[in-house]
Amino acid sequence: MLETRLQSSFAPEAAHPAMRQVSEDGTVKLLLRLHDGRTVESVLMPDYHEDRAAGCISSQVGCAMACDFCATTQTGFERNLTSGEIIEQFLHLQREARSAGRMLRTIVFMGMGEPMLNLKNVLAAVRRIADPRLGAFGWRQITISTVGVVPGIDELRESGLGVHLAVSLHAPDDITRADILPMGRRFPVREVLAAADRYQESSGRITTIQYCLLEGVNDSLEQARELARLLDGRRMHVNLLRYNPTGLSLRGRTYAPSSMVQTEAFLEELRAQGAVAHLRRARGPDIDAACGQLRKRENPAGERPAAAGGP
Ligand code: SF4
Repeated sequence: MLETRLQSSFAPEAAHPAMRQVSEDGTVKLLLRLHDGRTVESVLMPDYHEDRAAGCISSQVGCAMACDFCATTQTGFERNLTSGEIIEQFLHLQREARSAGRMLRTIVFMGMGEPMLNLKNVLAAVRRIADPRLGAFGWRQITISTVGVVPGIDELRESGLGVHLAVSLHAPDDITRADILPMGRRFPVREVLAAADRYQESSGRITTIQYCLLEGVNDSLEQARELARLLDGRRMHVNLLRYNPTGLSLRGRTYAPSSMVQTEAFLEELRAQGAVAHLRRARGPDIDAACGQLRKRENPAGERPAAAGGP
């Protein structure tokens, strides 16, 4: 009932699915067309509990962060999503989950965009999603991810909402990190981790360190030891991610996922050094699973819609 009211209140801007892909593993990827013709991706991932699912939500159309291995950023940044557009993604994913006989139990802001650069709208949406009259989500069911925007982490802390924080580190040293993540030139690893420490101290939540393994770039055992050294004494856990290749990068490189042998060796080395680490299962390997891929497929040249009047 409330969902219907909310949807009708969004009617002038209603997003509708422009494309939908379903993986053999049950992952559903939606490309939602917004009122101005632009598109964003949202993903539903089945949990190992057969009645639950997780949702991955976008915060911006495109992204300005220029992470070199990411497909989203290849078409640049177009605009921030409104809080209503973020909530619409939530409602679409909730409906997808229900039709698969599952309940949407967690959401992560790890889709297109850097949430910390649209934090006001992200937090407004999060408050609505937590509202018992809409999603009734607890803070622990919501994760906000960042590529390491330190002022954003501090602003999130000041909001006092107590959601989970995930930091995309992807390298333990500043040189490798800055090479693949331009934001690493602005905020060194020690400053990012110090901001995560402050967040953890005030929220009591354990920070997740996201680490996407790229063959020959950040997957050596020495890098695993360096990462473990950085986390020594910190209550953080590492989520190792398998890379979904996206073709030529922004800088004309081709990245490859680390082999399974190297991935497992990296994981073992982290654990041997005392770090808490897990390997996240690859999702939807038979569809355009990487962030930004589906949108790129729909619009390979990255052209903006004629109706759009953005920058
Ligand atoms: S990985 Fe995330 S922050 Fe980096 S360019 Fe892609 S969408 Fe933006």
